[in-house]
Amino acid sequence: MNPPGRLVLLGHPVEHSLSPTFQNAALRFRKLFVPYEALDVRPDAFEATINSLVAEHAAGNVTIPYKERMALLCKRLTADARRAAAVNTFWVDDDGILSGDCTDVGGFNALAREVMGEIPRGARVAVLGSGGAAAAVLTALERWEDCTVQLWNRSRERAETLASRFSIATSVASSAEDAARAASVIVNATSIGLLNSDHPVPISALQPSAVVLDLVYRTGETAWVRAARERGLVASDGLLMLVEQGALAFERWFGMPAPRDVMRESVSRLPAAYGHR
Ligand code: NAP
Repeated sequence: MNPPGRLVLLGHPVEHSLSPTFQNAALRFRKLFVPYEALDVRPDAFEATINSLVAEHAAGNVTIPYKERMALLCKRLTADARRAAAVNTFWVDDDGILSGDCTDVGGFNALAREVMGEIPRGARVAVLGSGGAAAAVLTALERWEDCTVQLWNRSRERAETLASRFSIATSVASSAEDAARAASVIVNATSIGLLNSDHPVPISALQPSAVVLDLVYRTGETAWVRAARERGLVASDGLLMLVEQGALAFERWFGMPAPRDVMRESVSRLPAAYGHR
């Protein structure tokens, strides 16, 4: 594929995103003189913005609230994007076709591998949340061997709709505590803890051997991850997943390995407040 002439992150809002920091660090390191810029796009301007980006042969990322809309606009989807019904990475193929991937799926698997060493067999996973991030997590979990899932969401109907789309044994729990009680891995795919110190589920409700994966990330980690560690649980926030989904996107656009160490290093000394992609 011809490399893109322009790289953008589309979202609303996007000003707190870390993606420009680590993508520009990667681009400088690889001597690719294409700037990566965040564009805050109003919902009524989204389709028109995509049309003009396609004409420019641009590529980029898509974040809240546009991942599902972008999946509908792309004419070619990877298997992960089709399964998750969400696109966070797009590009224009040489035949002019707008194409999309969901690298959050690979990002989540990388987080799980980093924390647990390898993907466990027979995991009992509690997934909290039923938005785009939860759909990417379920897409990844479908390939975990003998995995069973308890799904919980604040609005139960959304959890039931999401569960019905996936073939893994997904049952919908009536509370976060019920979902998490017997789980060997707990995934927070809600926005809880993004802007405050709230916990998606009390640590006291978890098995002492449970692994805590919080997709949310904040300066100094989320309060939930810190509390889990203080109780002796293995826990990680979502920063590693964020960098990995970006690294996989970089590899799609340029067909060369992403400099993951450079990308991680660029966000290791973060400003006082962050938390959005
Ligand atoms: P989304 O589609 O807007 O979904 C948000 C989810 O959070 C929904 O399940 C929503 O429940 C739930 N929620 C929001 N506020 C809540 C509250 N006060 N109590 C209970 N549930 C609440 O967003 P998303 O794309 O799935 O992202 C979810 C989180 O994952 C965000 O914090 C995002 O930053 C993070 N994320 C991280 C990465 C990464 O690379 N680390 C990647 C993707 C997403 P309802 O359905 O009831 O509204």
